Amino acid sequence: RMRRRWLFADQLGPHFLDSPRQPVLLVESKAVFRRRAFHRQKAHLVLSALRHRAQEGDVRLVQARTYAEAVDEPVTVCHPTSRAARDLVRRLPDVRMLPPRGFITTPQDFVTWADGRDHLRLEDFYRYARRHHDVLMEGAEPVGGRWNLDADNREPPPRGSARLGVPEPPAIVEDEIDDQVRADLDRWEREDGIVFVGADGPRLFPATRAEALARLRHFVDHRLPEFGPREDAMLAADPWMAHSLLSPAINLGLLDPLEVIEQAERAYRDGNAPLAGAEGFIRQILGWRDFVWHLYWYFGPHYRAADELQAHRELPAWFADLDADAVEARCLSGVLAGVRDRGWVHHIPRLMVLGNYAMQRGWSPAAVADWFHRCFVDGYEWVMTANVIGMSQYADGGRMSSKPYAAGGSYLNRMSDYCRGCRYDPKVRLGANACPYTAGYWAFLARHEPQLSGNHRLRRPLQGLRRLDDLDAVLAQEQARGSSAP
Ligand code: FAD
Repeated sequence: RMRRRWLFADQLGPHFLDSPRQPVLLVESKAVFRRRAFHRQKAHLVLSALRHRAQEGDVRLVQARTYAEAVDEPVTVCHPTSRAARDLVRRLPDVRMLPPRGFITTPQDFVTWADGRDHLRLEDFYRYARRHHDVLMEGAEPVGGRWNLDADNREPPPRGSARLGVPEPPAIVEDEIDDQVRADLDRWEREDGIVFVGADGPRLFPATRAEALARLRHFVDHRLPEFGPREDAMLAADPWMAHSLLSPAINLGLLDPLEVIEQAERAYRDGNAPLAGAEGFIRQILGWRDFVWHLYWYFGPHYRAADELQAHRELPAWFADLDADAVEARCLSGVLAGVRDRGWVHHIPRLMVLGNYAMQRGWSPAAVADWFHRCFVDGYEWVMTANVIGMSQYADGGRMSSKPYAAGGSYLNRMSDYCRGCRYDPKVRLGANACPYTAGYWAFLARHEPQLSGNHRLRRPLQGLRRLDDLDAVLAQEQARGSSAP
């Protein structure tokens, strides 16, 4: 007889079962929300997905205080996505743990690729994974003759239009399960003292397999063709651009990343999407997503505490509490409002507006990682660690990226329409209209010059730094600005 499969809340799709008829155990624990303040919409999405799943097939949903209490029969479980959950599974009697699912490459593949390398770089891993899984390949060569179309995918937003103009994904229609979740969350806030951050709002992301498949279909048909060129661009009035918005669904396990990239490749092969879009998109999933997943395990438990840049400052309350209205800098205010209102912004706001600001100010990388984890609907420990500690805060001293993602206002001005109408001037680093990103950029470089001087990718910025005749004044200004909202 097939053992019941215990599914964690991020393992909800059919690829976590051995057969569609396999009996399932789901555990809903309120205690998770007591430990940390999560975004209200994230709590809603996860609970809604879990409870929707409980309606499908032979499922036992146990509402319990602890997992140990809930798992009272022999079960199998796919390798969980966090160390804490894995250790728990190991401690429970009569739970058999299977290899992880929900990613494309296996841990063994990754270790084979990584062992013996000094630097782990996405580009190398991605090429390995493309070959290994025969994705966008023509024999031994990449289709179109190039592995990397990033150079085609860095265009600024269209000038003079507030939106990119791609069809928006169809809105989600909430049902009575969503209503029930909302009522429960309201009650927990009122009666149990559970605290959330961010605004409640209509559910924006899929909670069921059917909703997730519909979103995937819509993306591949209508948005993938536009995905590539403007991938890095931001428009104040268009939070979605041509991004897929699929991360919450993939991370909940509602979609198998393999089916997602297969559909994207098919769209390209059928002539329905250009190579730059399909390649750029597949790179995010087969490349980045699998890469950061493996790095979470490969770098080990101490990686999360890495702090090579000695950044110890606490997050100021206006940032921690998503108080966008306290911020005058248009980009940061707009992005923080996006997090508050949707629990989601796309990659460049995360990296170049939020992460960049935090790194410039010397905020504690672990606290920044924790903040991202709690505030984003797609945030999970495994995905946070490498993305925040490594990529965005450079707290690992370059183990996974070749330079810190620090940038001043001129980058933001080129890649977005935020600077127009902002009270700060991206070209100005000193005085009342000094852009906090521009001033913060120079202050960051000055603070870390000794550590960064060996990095050839920073040679030019560091030369520029040495030529600044007002650096002392900029540093004094940034010191005085402290942690107040810009
Ligand atoms: P698209 O642009 O449409 O990309 C397609 C898919 O690729 C995404 O759905 C996602 O599954 C995957 N992907 C792309 N980049 C990454 C990446 N760097 N790491 C992992 N998967 C990736 N992604 C999360 O899923 N959860 C997070 O909590 C998260 N936090 C981040 C924090 C920081 C500081 C940074 C810089 C990046 C973070 N990312 C995170 C990665 C990325 O920003 C999001 O996956 C992406 O913005 C989700 O939107 P989308 O589905 O429209 O992505």
